[in-house]
Amino acid sequence: MSKSKELFSEAKKYIPGGVNSPARAFKAVENDPLFIEQGKGAFIYDVDGKKYIDYVGSWGPMILGHNHPAVVEALQQQLMKGSSFGAPTKLETILAEMVVEGVSSVDKVRMVNSGTEATMSALRLARGYTGRTKIIKMEGCYHGHGDSLLVEAGSGITTLGIAGSAGVPAKMAEETIVVPYNDISALEEVFKEYSQDVAAVILEPVTGNMGVVAPKNGYLESLREITKKYGTLLIFDEVMTGFRLAYGGAQELYQVEPDLTTFGKIIGGGLPVGAYGGKREIMNYIAPEGPVYQAGTLSGNPLAMTAGISTLKLLKEEGVYNTLEEKGKLLEAGIQENIRKVDIPVVFSRIGSMFTLFFNGSDVTDYQSAKGSNTKAFSIYFNKMLEEGIYLPPSQFEANFISLTHSKDEIEATVEANYKALLEVKEK
Ligand code: PMP
Repeated sequence: MSKSKELFSEAKKYIPGGVNSPARAFKAVENDPLFIEQGKGAFIYDVDGKKYIDYVGSWGPMILGHNHPAVVEALQQQLMKGSSFGAPTKLETILAEMVVEGVSSVDKVRMVNSGTEATMSALRLARGYTGRTKIIKMEGCYHGHGDSLLVEAGSGITTLGIAGSAGVPAKMAEETIVVPYNDISALEEVFKEYSQDVAAVILEPVTGNMGVVAPKNGYLESLREITKKYGTLLIFDEVMTGFRLAYGGAQELYQVEPDLTTFGKIIGGGLPVGAYGGKREIMNYIAPEGPVYQAGTLSGNPLAMTAGISTLKLLKEEGVYNTLEEKGKLLEAGIQENIRKVDIPVVFSRIGSMFTLFFNGSDVTDYQSAKGSNTKAFSIYFNKMLEEGIYLPPSQFEANFISLTHSKDEIEATVEANYKALLEVKEK
C-alpha cells in the first residue's frame, strides 16, 4: 500500500472523511488523495516521493509557485518577532494600502481569515447598509460555506432558494434567490418581483467554481446598471480572480466597478487570509466605526500579512500578467492541437492563468451547460494525468491555475501528458 493510502486510512479515524475540506478527498474522480510532503516552484512532492507538476496551486494562492524564496525569507523574519498579537501592526496597513492602490473600486478593506468569512461579512455589510434582506447569487458560483450562500436554485426563475446543505435553515435559504450566470433577463425578472428587497447581487465575475466560464459581452456592465437602478449593492467575489487575472482582478480586466469586493487566496500568499473592501461610505458601516459587527482574533495576523505583502510586491512588478498570459497561451495552443488530433468532444476554456478542460460537446456558458460535461471521461482523464505526473484539481467543475514558475518545459510536459490522457479517454 502507498504511504498516501496508509495516511488516508489513519486520517479517516480522526478527521471526518479524512480531510479538512471535502474537495480534497478525490471522491469525484474515484481515487484516494495524495498526501503532500512539500512543494517547490511548479512542483509538489507526495509522501511516496513522486513529483508532480501542480495545477491546483493550493486552489489558487500559489501564483508565485510553491515556497517562493522571498516569501519564505519574509516569513522567517516575521516569525522571529512573533506570530500573533491581537493588536494592530503596521503590516495590516501596508497590505490594506496595497489592496486599495491595486483595486480601483476599493477605498477601504477589512482583513479576515478565509474567503468564506469575506463573503459572509460582505453580505452582512450589504444587508446592514441597505436595510434589505434578500441576496441574489448565480447558479454554480461558489462563495464559501456561509448559510446564505450554500443555497441551490429553486424550480422557477423567480422562486426562492433551497438549502444546499443539511443544517442550512430553510428560512435562511429563502432569503437567497438563485439565477443562472450570464443571463440578464432572469435577473430582470427577479428585480421586477423583488425590486425593493434585494440587498446585494453577488457573483464570481469570471467563474472558477463551475469550471472557468467567462462573462458574456456586456454581462457585467448590465449587472452594474441594473443593481444601480434598484439601489442594490453589486459584490464581485474575487477570492479566485483577485490579483490573478490582473493585479486589479476581473474588475480591472473588464472595467466594471462593483460596490464591494471579496478577496482571499493570493492576498494571503498561501497563509489563511480573506478580505472584503469597497466604497468608503459603505465600509464605514463596519464596527467600530458603524453598526455592522464583524471581528476576528487572528484577523490581520502578522504572518499572514507578511506573506500577502511579499506576494503582492512581486506581482506588482512590470510584465507579470503578460508573462502569465503567455504561459496560458502556450498551454492552450498545445492542448487545442491535441484536441484536434485526438478528435473528441472537449472544450478548453481559459482566461489568463485560469483554465478548465470541459469534457463537453458544446460551449459552456453557465451551470446547466457545465453540468452537461461527461464526468466519467473527466475521471479517466484526471487519473491518467496523475499517473503521468500532472496534478490537477480532482473535479470537472474547478479551475486549474498556472503559476509564474510553470516554465516552457513543464508546459510542454503537460501538453504531452494531455495528449496521452485524451487518447485514453477516447479509447475507453
Ligand atoms: N469565493 C470563491 C470565488 C472561492 O473560489 C472560494 C474558495 N474556493 C471561496 C469564496 C471560499 O474561500 P475559502 O475556501 O477560503 O473559505
